[in-house]
Amino acid sequence: KLHNTILELKGNIRVFCRVRPLLPDDGAAEGVVVSYPTSMESLGRGIDLIQNGQKYPFTFDKVFNPEASQQDVFVEISQLVQSALDGYKVCIFAYGQTGSGKTYTMMGRPEAPEQKGLIPRSLEQIFQISQSLQAQGWKYKMQASMLEIYNETIRDLLSTNRSIGSDPTRPESAVSGKQYTIKHDANGNTYVSDLTIVDVSTITEISSLLRQAAQSRSVGRTQMNEQSSRSHMVFTLRISGMNEGTEQQVQGVLNLIDLAGSERLSKSGATGDRLRETQAINKSLSCLSDVIFALAKKEDHVPFRNSKLTYLLQPCLGGDSKTLMFVNVSPKPSSVGESLCSLRFAARVN
Ligand code: ADP
Ligand code: MG
Repeated sequence: KLHNTILELKGNIRVFCRVRPLLPDDGAAEGVVVSYPTSMESLGRGIDLIQNGQKYPFTFDKVFNPEASQQDVFVEISQLVQSALDGYKVCIFAYGQTGSGKTYTMMGRPEAPEQKGLIPRSLEQIFQISQSLQAQGWKYKMQASMLEIYNETIRDLLSTNRSIGSDPTRPESAVSGKQYTIKHDANGNTYVSDLTIVDVSTITEISSLLRQAAQSRSVGRTQMNEQSSRSHMVFTLRISGMNEGTEQQVQGVLNLIDLAGSERLSKSGATGDRLRETQAINKSLSCLSDVIFALAKKEDHVPFRNSKLTYLLQPCLGGDSKTLMFVNVSPKPSSVGESLCSLRFAARVN
C-alpha cells in the first residue's frame, strides 16, 4: 500500500504504558512506587511497581516516564495514525483509573499548543498529509463523530441540539427520541443511527470540531457530576480516499477512545444508579479485555457482542486492523493498588 510502513506488530495489538508526573495534590513522593530502568530517558520498555517493598516488574512495547511530552508520545503513534490514510482501521485506547492521565493523553489541554493530546495532533497530521497527497492525485473525504457510552447507552457528543439543561442521568434517547442503534453493513462499515457526522475538510472545520467537543465534555463535567470518568468516549474519523489518476480507493478509520475509569468501586454500599453504573463499567472493560485477549490469541470465537463498546468497534478490532492500548498510570502512592491492577490488565492483553 501507498506510503505505508508495515508496523512490527505482535498480532496487531500493542500496549504502551505512560506514567504521569506527580502532581501537587498527590501527597508526599516518599516511598516511590514506580521506577524505570532508564531514569535518564523518557522512553523505555520496562516498568517496576513497588508495593509494600515488593517489586512487580512489567514489560510493554513502550513505557513513557513522566518526562515524556505530548509530542514525544505522538511521535511514537504517528505511523499508526498515518496508516488510517492507507486504508487501515485503527483503534487507540486509553485505559487506567480516574486521574491517571487518560484524557490528558487523548485530548490534552487544547488551549496550550504543546499540551495538545493525541486527538488534535492526529487530526492535524492526517489533514496535512492528505493535503500533500493531493499532488499525487489523491482526494480525501473525512467525517468525524464523537460519542459517549454511559451505562451501555450511547450519547452523541456532537449533536447541536443536545438538550443541555435536561436531566443528565436520563438517557438522551428518552429526551430526543433518538435511538443510536449500532449497525454493521456487509462492507464492514459501522453506522450508529441518528448520530451526528461532521464533514472535516479544512483546518478551520477541525478546530471548530475540537472546540465543540471540548465544550460538550466540559458540560459533561459540571452537569453530569464527574460522569466523564464513568463513560467511554469514542472519537471516530472515517477517511475515504480516491486517486483520480489510478482510480485506487481506500477506506480507513481512526478511533481514539478515552475509556471509563478502571478503578474498582467498593461494591458494598453501592446501590441503585451507582451500582448499575459500576457494574456497567466493570462489565464493558472486562469485555474489552476478553475481546483483545481472544484476538491476540487468535481464538475462533471473539465475544464482540457482549458490550456496546466492543460491538461498536468490532470491524476496527479484528482482521488486519491495528490496535494500540495506552495503560495510564499514576505515581501517586495511594494509587499503587489500582496501578498494579491496571498494569496486570494491560499485561494480559500485551
Ligand atoms: P483521567 O482522564 O485518567 O481521569 P486526567 O487526564 O484528567 O486523568 O489527568 C488527571 C490530572 O493529571 C489532570 O490535571 C491532568 O492535567 C494531569 N496530567 C495527566 N497526565 C499528565 C502529564 N503527562 N503531564 C502533566 N499533567 C498531567
Ligand atoms: Mg478523563
